[in-house]
Amino acid sequence: RNIVFNIQDLKVHFPVSQRFLESLVKKDSEQKVVKAVDGVSLTVREGETIGLAGESGCGKTTTAKTMVKLVEPTSGKVEFNGQDITSFKGKELKKFRKEAQMVFQDPYESLNPRFTVKQTLEEPLIIHGIKNPKERLDRILETLEKVGLRPAQTYINRYPHQMSGGQRQRVAIARALVIKPKFMVADEPVSMLDVSIRASILNLLKDLVEELNLASIYISHDLSLIRYVCDKTAIMYLGRIVEMGPTEEVIREPAHPYSQALLSAVPVPEPNPNGLNVPLDGEPPNPINIPRGCRFHPRCPVATEKCKEVEPIGRFVDGRWIECHLYE
Ligand code: SF4
Repeated sequence: RNIVFNIQDLKVHFPVSQRFLESLVKKDSEQKVVKAVDGVSLTVREGETIGLAGESGCGKTTTAKTMVKLVEPTSGKVEFNGQDITSFKGKELKKFRKEAQMVFQDPYESLNPRFTVKQTLEEPLIIHGIKNPKERLDRILETLEKVGLRPAQTYINRYPHQMSGGQRQRVAIARALVIKPKFMVADEPVSMLDVSIRASILNLLKDLVEELNLASIYISHDLSLIRYVCDKTAIMYLGRIVEMGPTEEVIREPAHPYSQALLSAVPVPEPNPNGLNVPLDGEPPNPINIPRGCRFHPRCPVATEKCKEVEPIGRFVDGRWIECHLYE
C-alpha cells in the first residue's frame, strides 16, 4: 500500500511568554518554549488507521494538526504523497486542503448553528470549484447516505439543534468526506457522545477508511477505542513516540514502561503476566520543563542512573519501535 504521509523528526515548539513561564516553572529555567512535538517520525499508508495515544499534553493533537496544516512545524519533514507540505501555496495548498481533512471532538462547536446540513456540506464543494448545483446536491445526498443519515432528503434542511449529538457528528464526518479526501484525522471523535452511540460512529469510521481507502489518524486517550479502530498504535509521551507497533501487540504486550503503566488502567481480556502493572503516578507531564535523560524517568518504576542522564535512542525490536534503554 502506498505511503500517503511521511513524517520525519517533526518538531513543533511554541514560544512562551516570560510571565507565563514564571507562573509555571522555576525562574532559572533555560527553556523558553513549549516542546509540544519533539522529534516524531511516522508513516501512514492508504487504507491504514494509526492510533495516537497518550495523556493530554503529549503532543498527539499537535502532531495531527501539523499534518493537516493547521499548525506549522518548527523543523523536520512532513511529506504528503512525496511532497513537502510546508512549501504548499496557492493552487497546491487549495488542493491539499481538499485532500486532508480533520474531524474534531465536539460536533456542537464544529458545525455552524445557522447553517442547514445542505449549507454545511455545500460550502466546501463551492470552495473547491464544483459549480453545478445539481452535482453538488447529488454529492451531498450520496455522502449523507454513506454516513448513515438516511433517507438523506429528510436531513438536508435540518439545523444542528434539530439533531442528536450522534447525528451532528455524522454531519461533521460527512462534511470532511464530501470533497473526497485522501487523508483524515479524527480527534477524539466520540468522547463527547453518549456511550450508547459511540460504537456506531466508530464502525462508521472503520467502514469509511476501508471503502474509501483513506489513510487516517485516530487520536484518543482511550486505548480500548484505539484497539477497536486502529491497525497500528503509537504511544506518545511528552512530544515523542515512545512505542509504536501493531495495535494488538502493543496493547496485549506493551514493552515500554510508560505504555505498560498507561495500559495497566485498561482492562484487557488476557493481561500480560510479565507487565509492570503499575499505576501511573508522579508529576503530570509538562512540555515546558522536559526532564533530561529519558523524559519518562521521574515517573518510571524501573529507571536507572543512566536513564537520568542519557536520552534513549529509539529502535525496532521485533517489528516494534521502542525508545527505552531496556531495549538497547
Ligand atoms: Fe524507564 Fe529508563 Fe526506559 Fe526511560 S529509558 S522508560 S526511565 S527504563
